[in-house]
Amino acid sequence: MSAIILKAGRERSLLRRHPWLFSGAIQQVKDEPASGETVDLLSFERQFLARASYSPNSQIRARVWTFEDEPVDKEFFRKRIRSAIAMRSSLLFGEESQATADSYRLIYAESDSLPGLIVDRYRDVLVLQSLTAGSEFWKEILADLLLEETGLSIVYERSDADVRELEGLEPKIGLLRGTNPQLPLTIYEHNLKFLINIEQGHKTGSYLDQRENRRRVRELAKDKDVLDCFCYTGGFTVNALAGGAKSVLSVDSSADALALCKENISINNLPPTRHTVLEGDVFQLLRKFRDENRSFDLIILDPPKFAPTAAQADRAARGYKDINLLAFKLLRPGGILVTFSCSGGIDAGLFQKIIAGSALDAGVEAQIIERLSQAADHPVSLHFPEGAYLKGLICYKLR
Ligand code: SAH
Repeated sequence: MSAIILKAGRERSLLRRHPWLFSGAIQQVKDEPASGETVDLLSFERQFLARASYSPNSQIRARVWTFEDEPVDKEFFRKRIRSAIAMRSSLLFGEESQATADSYRLIYAESDSLPGLIVDRYRDVLVLQSLTAGSEFWKEILADLLLEETGLSIVYERSDADVRELEGLEPKIGLLRGTNPQLPLTIYEHNLKFLINIEQGHKTGSYLDQRENRRRVRELAKDKDVLDCFCYTGGFTVNALAGGAKSVLSVDSSADALALCKENISINNLPPTRHTVLEGDVFQLLRKFRDENRSFDLIILDPPKFAPTAAQADRAARGYKDINLLAFKLLRPGGILVTFSCSGGIDAGLFQKIIAGSALDAGVEAQIIERLSQAADHPVSLHFPEGAYLKGLICYKLR
């Protein structure tokens, strides 16, 4: 087997079971492994550290499959997939809860010790996203295993995330196993229906990570005038209406997303008279609402990733500060702000500081009443804190 020999003293993060090896830590790559091939990671003293996939084009040159000296083959991946499924089915999405929530993340990459592999289950359809040379190398076997281990018959591929470029991989979209399902898919989430566009929707089609937070908004929305910013296909909007909101205004820059949002309201038999969509830029519309002296009881801010990595944190921080400041102004006293960041480059501590700055500059007195994060089907490995990306705050505006 090919091997990578580390520079002296550079094995520390691997000994702490962090699964990434950066190019700067490498002394020598032996036997020219192909892209995605399995390699041994050896310390400078030639001690076995881990078995990993090789990514010749990426700064993250290798990602660990296992820290044990064991074969990496089909049976190895079967065990990994089985334990990911076991966690979801024993703790979260067993038979009983299937009726209320039939769609969830089945495999979450590094967090499930399967770097590069994301699999979301939408009812009977698996959507696979392969992000690294390693997951690409094993993709066909992984697709077979997914069917064998779930008993399902369809795998659709959505390997079109930008990060593939860093691995030297082309985007790929299309059916990987089975026959084309009828689209859009309809899923259930806490007894509400949602239409999912797995071909063109964001990520694998939807934002499963916000499932529990959407339900929380349902509980908070009764009799409120709600503003749902960056609403996408209406995850929060539908929940707010289902929770008895007096009115909901949903804003997004994508006309397609707003069209699906309206359909999602209609298939749940929610009152269209209480709902308005507005296509446009949230940054501009919030200013317009301020100038018009409009006000709301509940505002949701769930923007796209402003800072994928720490390098863009400064610019992202200004973006978060801006929209949250405006939202605080638009809230009535006693109103609630539900605000999120899914930027990996901004941690929970920094996010809280940004929101505090927004309140200060808005001249508003507010309290944190709840902290939110990603749903449990997006777990965080204790050895890979980078897996925690979604953070949210529920703030109460006192005055
Ligand atoms: N809350 C949604 C997910 C939001 S994703 C859910 O739970 O399903 C982010 C959304 O922001 C996308 O739909 C994208 O179209 C929209 N968006 C991005 N930049 C925007 C901008 N400047 N103004 C308005 N919408 C924007």
